Amino acid sequence: MRVAVVGAGFSGLVSSIYLSRVANVTLFEEHGEVGVPEHCTGVVSGAVWEALSSFVSSEVNEGALEEFFLGLPEGVGVTLKGPKGFAAKLDRRRLEEELLETALAEGVKFVKKLVIRVTPKGYVDNEKYDRAVIAEGWRAELSERLGVAAKPRRVYGLNLEVVGRAAYPGRAEVWFDKSLAPGFFSWVVMLDGKAVVGTAATKGYDVRALARKALEVAERRGLVEGEVKKEYGGVIQTGPPSLTPCASKVCATGDAAGLNKPVTGGGLYPSLYVASRYPSNVDNLVKAYRVIVPRLLAETPVARALHGAPQRAYVKLFTALDGEVLRVTEYDNHLKTLAELVQSKKAFKLLKALLKAFYPL
Ligand SMILES: Cc1cc2nc3c(=O)[nH]c(=O)nc-3n(C[C@H](O)[C@H](O)[C@H](O)COP(=O)(O)OP(=O)(O)OC[C@H]3O[C@@H](n4cnc5c(N)ncnc54)[C@H](O)[C@@H]3O)c2cc1C
Repeated sequence: MRVAVVGAGFSGLVSSIYLSRVANVTLFEEHGEVGVPEHCTGVVSGAVWEALSSFVSSEVNEGALEEFFLGLPEGVGVTLKGPKGFAAKLDRRRLEEELLETALAEGVKFVKKLVIRVTPKGYVDNEKYDRAVIAEGWRAELSERLGVAAKPRRVYGLNLEVVGRAAYPGRAEVWFDKSLAPGFFSWVVMLDGKAVVGTAATKGYDVRALARKALEVAERRGLVEGEVKKEYGGVIQTGPPSLTPCASKVCATGDAAGLNKPVTGGGLYPSLYVASRYPSNVDNLVKAYRVIVPRLLAETPVARALHGAPQRAYVKLFTALDGEVLRVTEYDNHLKTLAELVQSKKAFKLLKALLKAFYPL
């Protein structure tokens, strides 16, 4: 069985590694190297890190994250506390470089080439393969022509990496504020000696200026101190996923198929989920999507409500929950996280706050 994988971003790399167990894989990448240009913050669940750690070294893991504050930028809000190893911040460039090394060691053939045509029958630029996986990222040009692409809502995100001092290593703050992140949220990820401050916004906003503004808030609150050493970002997709990710012998994956958690835009977990569940018989590739696509679809309206809520709803919600600390164990499935919160001892307060904030808007 010969399989072509188009695109050596995260999803193409993990797909190649898993598929190499059942097929001869050729991985096409338009750039000569992987991991560039960098765009992603690299926050994943402990479970995703555990799965990846069988392919890459521990150096890829920049630090554990066990506490997530959700609220207003001035520090009014609720803290979600996870167990040990709840989440991790990864060095994304290094992750992709090491994944490529693993893929090559597994016998994957890496070809530097811009693929310009894929057909449903498995032709990749006139060469016939038994199957093709398109992992071309959010531009999804090949996938669109094949009718397998997603049509997700998109926001534009930017990260500022600050080297110096972070007040609470292991804690991330997520801020809902229309003046910093219109249509999404801002974030501060704190590690030992370093932090990443980022924000995202719908089209038309100056996301660089917004990210600088978020950094000023983080500095004013004493969360972050140091020098901006790196700036990177790109398109964040917030669902829905493609309902037809496969056409005959070709499937799209990763951002091309809209495999992103709609609430956060996180793409690493859903891509890994699909890749690691490719059945031993490649003919059944399509089955791998049957669990994750409906889940991402169900999460999409929750994301729309959260990202689109007016500022007064955020203020009401987080003021009502200010100072609360809630325990959670689920990071990858946000509907489950919500269910965990609703079952918590403070469920009544949470529901009351949600109702007050969102009804009537
Ligand atoms: C600011 C920001 C922060 C984010 N933070 C997180 C996070 O914390 N956690 C998380 O899980 N996700 C996060 N994401 C989302 C995550 O980065 C993406 O979902 C993920 O990187 C998508 O991977 P991919 O392989 O599908 O696409 P890409 O990484 O875009 O890779 C596509 C590859 O295909 C190649 N390619 C494209 N077309 C062709 C062609 N025709 N021929 C050959 N090669 C081609 C490209 O060169 C590229 O290398 C973030 C995204 C952004 C923008």
